[in-house]
Amino acid sequence: MVSSEYERKIAARFATFDQDGNGWIDRADFDAAAKAVLAEFGVAARSDRGQSLYAGAEAFWQGMAGMADRDGDQRIGREEFVTGAVKRLRDNPERFAEIARPFLHAALAVADSNGDGAATVGDTTRALRALGVPEGVARTTAAALDGDRDGRIGETDIVPAFARYFTVPE
Ligand code: CA
Ligand code: CA
Repeated sequence: MVSSEYERKIAARFATFDQDGNGWIDRADFDAAAKAVLAEFGVAARSDRGQSLYAGAEAFWQGMAGMADRDGDQRIGREEFVTGAVKRLRDNPERFAEIARPFLHAALAVADSNGDGAATVGDTTRALRALGVPEGVARTTAAALDGDRDGRIGETDIVPAFARYFTVPE
């Protein structure tokens, strides 16, 4: 039997990807995510960091579509998400980390105000909020990402944590 806790988690993960909330995950959602992060940090879309973020979002979308868009209509419905994405993510979290990495790398560069290769807990909270994560959850998540409590969050903290979040145990 599938637990309601499991279904609740799946619904939450789907909603995170479905940025515009229209019931489908498609390229527009990934564009919206990139746009929201850039707006939050006042970074221009045409800048190098802006272009990298859009390129990362496109690669992320292509990777997700490759895993889950079974009927090839360029959008991932709830059913495709559950039968395609969730199962594959669980079977292969490394693959998921791989497709998400360029986007996360670029997002970190946008949030990294002093260019030292890491973002502060506060900046990470802002980035998560920009992606639609509620304030309280964003703050707790960012704090948890800073495992060694030095106040800095780098790519090696973010990528595995992201993959873990989307690897929903049954
Ligand atoms: Ca959508
Ligand atoms: Ca589809």
